[in-house]
Amino acid sequence: MLNLVLFGPPGAGKGTQAAFLAKAYQLVHLSTGDILRKEIASGSAIGQMAKDIISKGELVPDSMVINLIQDKLDKNPSVNGFLFDGFPRTVPQAEALDNLLVHYGRNVSAMLSLEVGKEELIARLIKRGVTSGRSDDSNRSVIENRIEVYNQKTAPLINYYRNAGKYESINGEGSLEEITKRLKTCIDQIPQNRKSR
Ligand code: UDP
Ligand code: MG
Repeated sequence: MLNLVLFGPPGAGKGTQAAFLAKAYQLVHLSTGDILRKEIASGSAIGQMAKDIISKGELVPDSMVINLIQDKLDKNPSVNGFLFDGFPRTVPQAEALDNLLVHYGRNVSAMLSLEVGKEELIARLIKRGVTSGRSDDSNRSVIENRIEVYNQKTAPLINYYRNAGKYESINGEGSLEEITKRLKTCIDQIPQNRKSR
């Protein structure tokens, strides 16, 4: 089994690379950002709670995303593995993910961290905002707040996974193909004992 956390700041390329990797390794791609946007589009209670939080670039409550992930794990009992994209975003979420995976007889094989400089991130997000229609991509101060929230609440996960011996740093600048290749090289080098469950 192979359970990967694809990690990095907003605009690092997680969603784009996740689509390639999920296909190449037959993993179920779970993007909490995509799930939340679907909840907003459907007008569900969760969507209504998440909408304003997301448009400000803040994080929805841990319990909300943990429940969404638990639901997906429940619905996919016998898959080869999961590719978590944009989750976990806080240390309590990472702890909850570890506990949930134990319950399903799984564990995180590796955390792949895409490293991209701040100016490049802002440029990519502004460019995406032109076509994505995402409220959180269209405004520079919201983008800067998302990067700030990332630095304060999400970046500490690097140490969390480093302490678990699962942190892998990958250069996230360059062509899409180059970055996919770097990720695959890294995944193919994960020791077998981290892929056993
Ligand atoms: N979000 C959140 N928790 C999550 C995923 C997303 O609070 O687990 C919110 C948060 O406001 C974030 C936005 O949804 O800024 C967009 O998330 P996504 O992962 O799609 O953005 P990315 O970081 O990939 O640009
Ligand atoms: Mg994304």
